[in-house]
Amino acid sequence: MIFDPNQRQNNRSARISMALFRMTQAIKKMTQLESDAAGFTPIQIQALLFCLHTRSDAATVGNFAHAIGTTHVTAVKVINGLVQKELINKAAKLEDRRVTLLQLTSEGQLAAAKLEQWGQSLEDLLLTIPEETLASLELGLGSVIAAMQQEGHVVVAEPCLGCIHFHPNAREGSEPHYCGLVQKHLSNEASLKECPEHTSSEGV
Ligand code: SF4
Repeated sequence: MIFDPNQRQNNRSARISMALFRMTQAIKKMTQLESDAAGFTPIQIQALLFCLHTRSDAATVGNFAHAIGTTHVTAVKVINGLVQKELINKAAKLEDRRVTLLQLTSEGQLAAAKLEQWGQSLEDLLLTIPEETLASLELGLGSVIAAMQQEGHVVVAEPCLGCIHFHPNAREGSEPHYCGLVQKHLSNEASLKECPEHTSSEGV
């Protein structure tokens, strides 16, 4: 129904669905241009940024596959390409050797640091829109993402602050915070990384 312009006329959700569809097409094109300039494919860039921003014990191949909405096989292929380029190291997780942890090499760190501006063309474009409109958009898109998350279509990884499992400053020392889910103490640095298991305390 969303591709039929006549049907869209009297159907708000169809119009918004079409708008979101067009946006994803445009974002794909914009990020492709930025990726070409960086010398990587968009999915390689996502892999490097995933390793850079994800808490080290959660930076697994499986979580990467979920984060970008692809299959495990595709994720492994992308990661193996970056291992060959000596940008990523793979290692079995100590607690469960079936799980593969990903870590940037020192070259990978440098490459990922240079990619921090990836996606900037989209942000620049949004900066041209009035603040009030952006505030409503943020609210609306938040609801869309929450609905997608509930259906398992998207993983929203966030740092610890605002997570129901987070117990900040639970003790003294280098790992002061505690996560009730993974039942581990966390350093400040680890708590600031993205976690795919973040569960927002908002509305709880
Ligand atoms: S589950 Fe929550 S508290 Fe635990 S590491 Fe993830 S974000 Fe932090």
